[in-house]
Parts: sequence; structure tokens; C-alpha cells
Amino acid sequence: MSDYDFDLFVIGAGSGGVRASRVSASYGARVAVAEEYRVGGTCVIRGCVPKKLLVYGAHFAEDLHDARRFGWNVPKCDFDWPRLRDNVLGEVDRLNGLYTETLDKNKVTIFHERATIEGPHEVRLASGKIVTADKILIATGAWPVVPEIEGAEHGITSNEVFHLETLPRRVLIAGGGYIANEFAGIFREFGSQVTVVNRSDMILRGYDEQIRDRLLQISMAKGIIFRFNAPFQKIEKLEDGSLRAHLDGCDPIDCDVVLFATGRRPNVAGLGLETAGVELDGKGAIKVDENSRTSVENIYAVGDVTDRIQLTPIAIREGQAFADTVFGNKPSVVDYNCVPSAVFSHPPIAAVGMTEAEARNKLGSVKVYSSDFRAMKNVLAGRNERSLYKLVCDAETGKVVGIHMIGPDAPEILQAAAIAVKAGLSKADFDATVALHPSMSEELVLMR
Ligand code: FAD
Repeated sequence: MSDYDFDLFVIGAGSGGVRASRVSASYGARVAVAEEYRVGGTCVIRGCVPKKLLVYGAHFAEDLHDARRFGWNVPKCDFDWPRLRDNVLGEVDRLNGLYTETLDKNKVTIFHERATIEGPHEVRLASGKIVTADKILIATGAWPVVPEIEGAEHGITSNEVFHLETLPRRVLIAGGGYIANEFAGIFREFGSQVTVVNRSDMILRGYDEQIRDRLLQISMAKGIIFRFNAPFQKIEKLEDGSLRAHLDGCDPIDCDVVLFATGRRPNVAGLGLETAGVELDGKGAIKVDENSRTSVENIYAVGDVTDRIQLTPIAIREGQAFADTVFGNKPSVVDYNCVPSAVFSHPPIAAVGMTEAEARNKLGSVKVYSSDFRAMKNVLAGRNERSLYKLVCDAETGKVVGIHMIGPDAPEILQAAAIAVKAGLSKADFDATVALHPSMSEELVLMR
């Protein structure tokens, strides 16, 4: 046992920090974790979980509408934002309690305050107390980027969006990434007027081009307005309390809420990394090796703060691999190949592996199979919304190197299909699998 107060001090009780703390403690390490906001971190408190619950809530708009075609006499329905908001926040409270309980059960000491690094083995708590530890793990996540423009303080970020007092009548969303598109879908389904403003000319960089185009087309058909190549100049607060956004290259837009979804930056500000000699990379993320070790031998970092892939399951895997390697005597590294991801837009997108463009660049010879179809449910509902599935294959070996989908339940379907891509299965293996009929997912084994 070391002379330090703890064997491990974790800064940040989010996805990565909680996993690393709990598992390290289960291996017998004396662990402390500091959390400046709420145990659970971004995913549980103001990210994936409340967002997905809003997505479910929003989808009822379509389900209630379509139900009439399926014989249900649905009266005119109103939407009550405060009720959904409060129920979602109640669920967040429940999960916050569960995460705290798990740490307590594993005898992890929780400091409910901010922590900064004082030296390689020293952490200072906001109360002024100095705590020492043999090893330090930085798991402070990422923080929303807000453009430096006049009036930026009138806008909100995803941190505040879950707490809105009232449902805004007009929402302006800045950004083209997954968070921007998800909230565009959510607010549009609730009945708000939604404008997505992007300084570039595309949405969802990194996703397959045809899939992105399909989302854009469907979103526009649902009434979401897009303004491309339109960087912000300033935001003005009008006398009636509403906002006016001035943009380059287009007319000013009046709205009730401006939501910045303009990226998330590694959360390192004021952490004291310089005092301990922890180095950052060119993008401001903490530099780590494959074992998540920083430039200081006994200091490690996992999750969004290292900006490898900013997703919850990745932060969790990194936290687990850290604990296994450092305290469990089971060295392991995270495999970043074929990580599936989703955009919970309306309809959702899901993808794994290389896009068609990436595969053409990397492999040269590529064969692409696709299915462009209207889901049976949409046909009866009279909903003119087409799904698109793509299989990207290595033309020489037939190996499926990427799957890209947009359509109802695409993320639920893709998780299983991602196993096949990860396992290196070929198009012939997909063809040899008998279809499960009638389903949307059968399209994956019926492409010719
Ligand atoms: P976090 O979970 O952010 O935890 C970091 C914690 O550290 C925070 O609780 C913070 O308060 C605390 N902290 C920071 N500095 C200090 C300090 N100095 N002292 C004490 N505590 C500190 N990912 C998905 O996989 N799927 C999704 O659908 C998805 N949706 C998202 C939607 C939104 C709106 C957002 C914002 C993110 C979403 N993400 C999603 C990303 C996901 O939330 C993150 O990748 C994940 O939470 C990263 O985990 P982490 O442990 O690195 O950091």
C-alpha cells in the first residue's frame, strides 16, 4: 500500500470516470473521485439519456398522426413540454442516484466539488483541501464550444436545452453535427419552427454522403429550414425578449431560442495540467498513449478529454481498459476499428465502418449494394418517407467494410449488423442468411 491518501484519484464522474473508479476499486485499489456537477456526467445528466427520451417524446407526434390510418380514433392532441421535461429530469435524478450508489457500494470516496491538479501526485479540491494519490486519472469530458460573437450570451447550449421554461415557438440551431440535427428533429416534431444554420455547406461530416443527403431531404420535407455557408455575425436581443440572429450571406432570422451545437472541446481549462507537465495535442486534447497514459508517468486520461472518439461506449471502454491494465493485472487496449454510431434524427441514421468515399480512397476497388425502400408501416400511414441502406464491400474479397442506414429504428438494427462487420464477414455470408420477414432489417440480406 502506498503512502498516498489514495491509490487512484479520478477527476470527473462521467462515463469514463465512473467505470474506471468502480472497476479499480473492485480490484482492491483505494479510490477517490471528484465531481463538480452531478455524478453520471454528460451522457446521463445532459447528453445521450435525456436526449434520447426527448427523441421518444417527439416521435409520438408522428405516431399519433399515423395511428389514424391504422384505425385509431385519435382526438386532437396537445403537447405539454413542462410535463415531458420534468419527467425526463426525474429519470435523470433516478440515474444520478443509481450511479452514486454504485460508487458508494464499491467504497469509492466521492468529493462533490471541483478538483485541479497541483502536482504529479497532488490534487486540490475547491474547498482548498489537498489530496494525494499514487495515480491520477483525468476524465473531465468535453465542453460545448460557443462562437465568439457579439451577443453569444443570449444563446444556449445542450447544457441548458433540457431545462427550458417553455417550448420555444421559433428555434435557431447553429451547427451541422449530430447534436444539431437531433435537436432540429426534436423541436420540429414538437411543432416549433426550426432553422438550422451552418457555416459550411454540409451536415453530418463523416457520415456517408447519400445518407446525409437523404436526411437533409426528409428534414426539409418535414419543414426544417436550412441555411448553409452562413456564419454568425451577432445576436441581438429585441425589446419583446426575442432574438434576432445576423448572419453572413442571408437575411436576419428572428427566433425565441438560439441553440449552439457548434462542437465540443476537451475540458481542460484551469485544470492545472501545466503545473504537472501534462501535454496537450494540437487540438487541445490530452495526449495519451494506447494505455491512456499521459506525458506524466502516473497520470492517465480517458474519454472525451482525450478526443479519440467522443462517444459514451468509448469512454467506458477506455475507463475499463485503464482499470484492467493498471489495477487488475489484465493489460488491455481499446480497439477503435468499426465503432458503430448513430444520429437520433427523425428518421435516425446509423453507421459502422467505412463510408463509400472512404472505401474508394482506401481500397480502390469497391462494390456498393443499396436498398432504397419505403417501410411497410410508412406505406399504410401514407408517409412518403424512404429509407436507404447501403452495404460497402471490398470488391476483391467481398468483405463488408461498411454499413450505412437511414430509416425507422436504424440504430436498433445496426447494432446487430455491426457484429458481422467487426467479425469481417462477407457479402456472401449476408446472402447466405435467410431473411426475417416481414421486417425492415431483412433488406440487409436481400441486396443483390
Ligand atoms: P463526461 O461524461 O462529460 O464526464 C466528465 C465529468 O467530469 C462531468 O460530470 C464534469 O462535470 C466533470 N468535471 C469536469 N471537470 C471537473 C473538475 N475539474 N473537477 C471535478 N469534476 C469535473 N454519446 C453517445 O455515445 N451517444 C449519444 O447518443 C450521445 N448523445 C449526446 C448528446 C449530447 C447533447 C451530448 C452533449 C453528448 C452526447 N454524447 C453521446 C457524448 C457523450 O455524452 C460523451 O462522449 C461521454 O459522456 C463522455 O464521457 P466522459 O467520461 O469522457 O466525460
